[in-house]
Amino acid sequence: MLQQSIKYLPGIGPIRAQLLEQELGLKTYEDLLNHFPFRYIDRTKFYKIKEIRATNADIQLLGKLVEVTEIGNGRKKRLTAILEDETGQLELVWFKNYQYIKKRLQINQTYVVYGRPNLFNRKFNMAHPEIETIEERKKKSFLKLQPVYPSTEKLIKKGFNTRLWTHIMSGLFKETGLKFKESLPPEVLNELKLLDKNQALFNIHFPQNIDLLQKAQTRLKFEELFYLQLQLLQKNLQHKKKIKGHIFPKIGPYFNQFYQKILPFDLTNAQKRVLKEIRADVKSGTQMNRLLQGDVGSGKTIVAMLSMLMAIDNQFQAALVAPTEILAQQHFKGLKPYADALGLNIHLLTGSTKKKEREVIHAGLESGNLHMLIGTHAIFEDKVKFKNLGLAIIDEQHRFGVAQRAKMWQKNRIPPHMLVMTATPIPRTLALTHYGDLDISIIDELPPGRKPVKTIHRYRKDKLKVFEFIKKELEKGRQAYVVFPLIEESEQLNYQNLMDNYEKIKIFFKNTAFKTSMVHGKMKPAEKEAEMTRFKNNETHIMVATTVIEVGVNVPNASIMLIESAERFGLSQLHQLRGRVGRGADQSYCILMTDYKLSQEARIRMETMTATNDGFKIAEVDLKLRGPGNILGTQQSGLMQFRIADIIKDAPLMHTARQYAYRILKKDFNLIHPEHQQVRYFLQKQVRKTGFWNLIG
Ligand code: ADP
Ligand code: MG
Repeated sequence: MLQQSIKYLPGIGPIRAQLLEQELGLKTYEDLLNHFPFRYIDRTKFYKIKEIRATNADIQLLGKLVEVTEIGNGRKKRLTAILEDETGQLELVWFKNYQYIKKRLQINQTYVVYGRPNLFNRKFNMAHPEIETIEERKKKSFLKLQPVYPSTEKLIKKGFNTRLWTHIMSGLFKETGLKFKESLPPEVLNELKLLDKNQALFNIHFPQNIDLLQKAQTRLKFEELFYLQLQLLQKNLQHKKKIKGHIFPKIGPYFNQFYQKILPFDLTNAQKRVLKEIRADVKSGTQMNRLLQGDVGSGKTIVAMLSMLMAIDNQFQAALVAPTEILAQQHFKGLKPYADALGLNIHLLTGSTKKKEREVIHAGLESGNLHMLIGTHAIFEDKVKFKNLGLAIIDEQHRFGVAQRAKMWQKNRIPPHMLVMTATPIPRTLALTHYGDLDISIIDELPPGRKPVKTIHRYRKDKLKVFEFIKKELEKGRQAYVVFPLIEESEQLNYQNLMDNYEKIKIFFKNTAFKTSMVHGKMKPAEKEAEMTRFKNNETHIMVATTVIEVGVNVPNASIMLIESAERFGLSQLHQLRGRVGRGADQSYCILMTDYKLSQEARIRMETMTATNDGFKIAEVDLKLRGPGNILGTQQSGLMQFRIADIIKDAPLMHTARQYAYRILKKDFNLIHPEHQQVRYFLQKQVRKTGFWNLIG
């Protein structure tokens, strides 16, 4: 029944059917049934003429006609009428086929008028409104909440107005007779007190009152999110069942010695919790696939170190992969003293590793005498073979794709445990959906004693004052970053821009003791490294850079981050850059310098940055500004196209849906119990329809 063509429904016919298919992809009864209104107009509310605003959509007025005239000649001929209430007057116009209306209109009669106000010659008017007397209105049975359906220019031109849509939907409901199969299990309906399927569908199209409309919306949103989570969780759990993982049964001497004797500070509670989660995974017998989210500076590296020791204590090797050479080097330098203290063999492998060193590494990896390998993409190469890689950690995940994760897996018959670390938090709702196949750990606590970075927004005209401020801080012994955005169109322009500004900065600080370093994309890795090292050793005091320093660089004495043309950066990038300071004991500052003129969105970005240091809050705003598709890249955005739910507004409902989906799968993974028959049926149907597995494969 539901697969029947809509062609023969009242009000449609073959031509309109074709239009609906072309424009909205609506073919069957089912498609039409699931074509939900996107808003409703309250037909119980009357506006006063004085209250009309340019932003009003369709509104309803009540007033007396004080004038009706036909004006203009030929094609410009039209009918106008003046409607008056106690607050003012409004012109109504009809441009064609108005003879019938003209006959009905009477001066001094009170009418209900319904339509969309237009601003014309700085006055409002209303073209082709619906108009009826109070008596006529009373006789008609009509919906107090009038649905507005998603439509297209073309459909509107071809007469698809509210009245036609309602007519079509009435026909559909008469045909199908409200006998839709329930798609949610009874326990879920009962516990959450959700409307049943028939009532929900009826009220979404023909809301009987606001309460029932809201209940219908909740129920249908829940259903959508519930089936999405069922799919994600089923995939996640299936993965766990199928993919065997190495077992690290014991916590051994390396871990214990490091934890008790070498680790220079106490772990935060969040770090401890995450380590427990990792520990549970690596002894479970299935492969760990975990995403570790933690704000910049939250201390992910130590978690990585301790996890690697779990592997090494059980006679496995461990690898840590970073997205850039600088970062890989930094990790290596940070971790080497620890490894040395423990008597472990650690090496660095990057694109610029010399052949001789490479040979030593390859041999060490294959014999198993090399315990920890730190590096870049170079580690992914096929010729890099491990004796027994037990754990692979990828830092700063957003730079690597799923395909690269898979590469690590293929390095062994039994894939290594995978820990993916990211400092670009994505809102939890989005993470649950996007990384449905990963488990998620969160470090939501910074190490103690950090002073939050003070963030200030300044206009470019105040640049000299800002430089003066920087100078004062440098005089206290601090160091500063000055970052320029990349101009996308031209590498040459970037270079030019950077050089010009570098010169200006040098001139400003000419008669001081302060020296300037610079790093940019055109430099060779060795040069970059040399400059970074000079800065790190406090031989230079100002680091001028393009965004190459964005990720992970650690210079605790640097306490100022000046971001030039900050309006060109996205929120997550700004937050990343800010994370470069605030790493030492001193008060740190992040100065966002922009043009005076800013777009609305850029202004919100600056306000968000000055208002909060919380990466998760920033991610939420970013999501609202850019939408999920943009944050995750277009590839995956198919997943984010909901029929009725809204991933931002309906986050709590998403969590509830996930809980219920989890509970059901836990009890009955294959959905074979009789009470889950329906769920299985609808799930299969949805999987077929969305081609879901391919989307996140
Ligand atoms: P991120 O999460 O950004 O990778 P890092 O791992 O680089 O952060 O840690 C930032 C700094 O905080 C490092 O200098 C690190 O030694 C220090 N740190 C990490 N954990 C703690 C802790 N529990 N107590 C004090 N300092 C810590
Ligand atoms: Mg890091």
